[in-house]
Amino acid sequence: MILPDYRSEADALRGQLVAWRRDLHQHPELSFQEIRTAGVVARTLGELGYEVRTGVGRTGVVGLLQGGRPGPTVMLRADMDALPIQEISDAPYVSQTPGAMHACGHDGHIAIGLGTATLLARHAAELPGRVLFVFQPAEEGGSGAAAMIADGALADPKPAAAFALHLWNMIPMGRVVAQAGPLMAAADILRIVVRGKGGHGAHPHETVDAIAVTGQVLSALQTIVSRNVDPQETAVLTIGTLHGGTAFNVIAETVELQGTIRTFSPAVRETVLTRLRVLLDGVTAGMGAQYELAVKSVAPAVVNDAAAAETARAAAVQVVGPTAVTWHAPLMVSEDFSEFQKVVPACFMLLGSGNVELGLNAPHHNPRFDFDERALPIGVALLATTATRFLLENMAR
Ligand SMILES: [Zn+2]
Ligand SMILES: [Zn+2]
Repeated sequence: MILPDYRSEADALRGQLVAWRRDLHQHPELSFQEIRTAGVVARTLGELGYEVRTGVGRTGVVGLLQGGRPGPTVMLRADMDALPIQEISDAPYVSQTPGAMHACGHDGHIAIGLGTATLLARHAAELPGRVLFVFQPAEEGGSGAAAMIADGALADPKPAAAFALHLWNMIPMGRVVAQAGPLMAAADILRIVVRGKGGHGAHPHETVDAIAVTGQVLSALQTIVSRNVDPQETAVLTIGTLHGGTAFNVIAETVELQGTIRTFSPAVRETVLTRLRVLLDGVTAGMGAQYELAVKSVAPAVVNDAAAAETARAAAVQVVGPTAVTWHAPLMVSEDFSEFQKVVPACFMLLGSGNVELGLNAPHHNPRFDFDERALPIGVALLATTATRFLLENMAR
């Protein structure tokens, strides 16, 4: 098999890609509510000749393409969920659903996935192996990847490698990041309740003021990253919400805090969690209060397999040229593609979708988020080339 000219084929598909993306953008669905979206995906894959399974990990869709020659299975993944954000946009394709919006570009990922499925189906007879498409629900903190794995999405056939991309507005349109090693951080959600003893605002000596205790807790927590984590390592500990108290003359009995921890190395994550507990123990005990701590892992770190990254990088060079393939410092955001990476050697790529001149450079999760749609055919060519290269490199000889 000679590698097809996927870039030209994808460019010819541009109108369809934009139509898919704009339809999905107008009909955003939140995590695990991707009913209409999954319907569009399943119907399109079925029309293309894929073996389709729906309801995998609740609202996920799996499509399998049998190549005409024997070989391994390569997995491609796209995420499908939108965010609970009210869109601010004058675009004709603005969200039709109040309070929901594709503000992370997952509408683009679905369009790219369907476009890639179209091109690979066209060349199925020549492909040495199979392509497993995984359209995942609930990437935005809902653990959709884990739900699909638990539901057997990768069980039969088991893929030998997995690839995916994320449109990235902070990178100029058409640039590609496909690098080995860490790319995105592990994320944990934490919830702390500081419990004191409420009472009259004029009688503090009869109370344990949960707000005063929380003030000490907050400043103690700031020392974890600055004083306990090796400065050569990376960690973030952010407290994002703080709620306590009911009236000006009442001493609060409880304060609730929520936050997130971001790390790359499991050892650093353990350090942060250990210090968190030690400081909460010490500060609250010293001030006569108590606390509850709940930590929930959202996703492990995205760390790309070296061999898979090499395949993706070679494909990227072919699709966008060597000068548009760039290295990127690891990002502190998280992505649950990392759940697939625990099961399959994989590479997660970033595809630049920002365009400052066109004003298409709002950050992800912003109500004005939109991207340069010229990235769509590039994404298709990138995934189709990556998958085909992997099959050719690993075919039965
Ligand atoms: Zn997101
Ligand atoms: Zn995303």
